[in-house]
Amino acid sequence: MAVLPVRTLPDPILRRKTKRVSTVDKSIKKLVTDMRETLHADAGRVGLAAPQVGVSLRVTVICVPDGEDIILINPEIVRRKGQRLISEGCLSIPGYVGQLFRAESVTAKGLDLNGKPIRIKAEGLLSQALEHETDHLNGVLYIDRMESTDTLRKIEPEDTKI
Ligand SMILES: [Zn+2]
Repeated sequence: MAVLPVRTLPDPILRRKTKRVSTVDKSIKKLVTDMRETLHADAGRVGLAAPQVGVSLRVTVICVPDGEDIILINPEIVRRKGQRLISEGCLSIPGYVGQLFRAESVTAKGLDLNGKPIRIKAEGLLSQALEHETDHLNGVLYIDRMESTDTLRKIEPEDTKI
């Protein structure tokens, strides 16, 4: 188990499209263990995608406050409903948050840590995190979804970090 350093811009791995996981084997389980430890290393962290710890694979870990860890491998957003304007930050763009539109709710599918297909219906912060982390796997960052980066502002201590 290890807390891994979080990659930040302009690290090129954050802009690379990641590879699908073909088998959820021991190496993937170890990666997930390390990602969970890294996620919980700092209060307020909500999610982590593998490229943020230097691994170009489609693996995400999400934990909203008072929730349990959700591990989603090869995630796909299969349904988006509604639209809302939110403030969002990213561990890989430290110190800033920006405003952008996200869905009100999403349905995501993927594999769990046993390699079994799962489907998650989510709203609120979990929905936002599912979109944010899936974007990471495609080399997309929240700043790409902002209409204008003029609304980027310095982070406040109470902001959540995705
Ligand atoms: Zn992020």
